[in-house]
Amino acid sequence: MLRDAVRSLAEAKIAPHAAAVDEEARFPREALDALVANDLHAVHVPEEYGGAGADALATVIVIEEVARVCASSSLIPAVNKLGSLPVILSGSEALKKKYMAPLAKGEGMFSYCLSEPDAGSDAAGMKTRAVRDGDFWVLNGVKRWITNAGESEFYTVMAVTDPEKRSKGISAFVVEKSDPGVSFGAPEKKLGIKGSPTREVYLDNVRIPADRMIGEEGTGFATAMKTLDHTRITIAAQALGIAQGALDYAKGYVKERKQFGKPIADFQGVQFMLADMAMKIEAARQLTYAAAAKSERNDSDLTFQGAAAKCFASDVAMEVTTDAVQLLGGYGYTRDYPVERMMRDAKITQIYEGTNQVQRIVMARNLP
Ligand SMILES: Cc1cc2nc3c(=O)[nH]c(=O)nc-3n(C[C@H](O)[C@H](O)[C@H](O)COP(=O)(O)OP(=O)(O)OC[C@H]3O[C@@H](n4cnc5c(N)ncnc54)[C@H](O)[C@@H]3O)c2cc1C
Repeated sequence: MLRDAVRSLAEAKIAPHAAAVDEEARFPREALDALVANDLHAVHVPEEYGGAGADALATVIVIEEVARVCASSSLIPAVNKLGSLPVILSGSEALKKKYMAPLAKGEGMFSYCLSEPDAGSDAAGMKTRAVRDGDFWVLNGVKRWITNAGESEFYTVMAVTDPEKRSKGISAFVVEKSDPGVSFGAPEKKLGIKGSPTREVYLDNVRIPADRMIGEEGTGFATAMKTLDHTRITIAAQALGIAQGALDYAKGYVKERKQFGKPIADFQGVQFMLADMAMKIEAARQLTYAAAAKSERNDSDLTFQGAAAKCFASDVAMEVTTDAVQLLGGYGYTRDYPVERMMRDAKITQIYEGTNQVQRIVMARNLP
């Protein structure tokens, strides 16, 4: 029922704008409005904080169905979870009450600020500093590649509170867009997910109350990594949705397109490509849904499963979207058809929330 509801909404309200959002590299406002109106923009927020209380699998299905028509728009529910999960996992009761209610109501999105210009895969090498000043913390630094920066009201920011301790000297904070000293860089000019703004976040003497710290001092990096264990599954869902969208489009096209006097769908070479695409998608789906169940139960092998789902599904998305372009021939290579956008959008799923090389490091360290 949830899938049917999200699919109908996505096809009616999000799909019609997907090409323009990509072409104009503009934020998918129509998608945000439609998702908020239907309470689908941050479904993971627990009911006790005013949210829809969707479990990890339901959240994955929402993201998958939105990504099937518009990958940029799927980053609204996905990054709302990424940005707010540190608060849900480790924040004080007061912090949860304060920030989950506006997120659930659609009054403000949440972003996640871990990466920096010189600290990507090696996130613990971050330089952003937070220094205590009485009942306040003062933050200075630059966060890079922040999804939905400028659009979001709330930001989970990881910063160094004790430079001697490396990852154990990092703490997490909630920063608000309206805090004096917060500003944003120009939007990055990207290959894909062009509707999702990616900008730097500048923190210039940002003075925030001490109770904005998420969890204890020195636990921020652990919270950031624990968050990714859960949210990499949402990137797997995004990848899955993009791949399914490309397969669905190609499936329809090959029945219409005629060469050598018959639909190209009649050629076994084409049928075999479609069979492989569907097989890979189904394998990615099973892995992703199993990982979502593990996320919900907080199983001990979640770290491996989350990384495996993200890595596998994103590689599948890249393969399937590339094959979809191939199945449309020269037409697939143009912007008159959606599959080239899907191929460009798929690429990011192999890179963010840890590159697929990093996922393999994570898996190797956590072999079942
Ligand atoms: C569109 C977009 C949105 C993003 N959104 C966010 C966001 O909202 N919040 C956020 O905090 N970050 C975000 N990121 C950042 C993203 O997570 C990083 O780009 C990613 O983790 C890689 O870091 P890097 O770009 O610095 O690459 P690098 O770490 O410099 O990696 C470069 C290459 O080296 C490889 N490599 C690095 N170390 C190793 C190793 N030990 N072994 C093998 N290979 C290695 C990598 O796999 C990669 O191929 C986003 C990035 C993009 C592009």
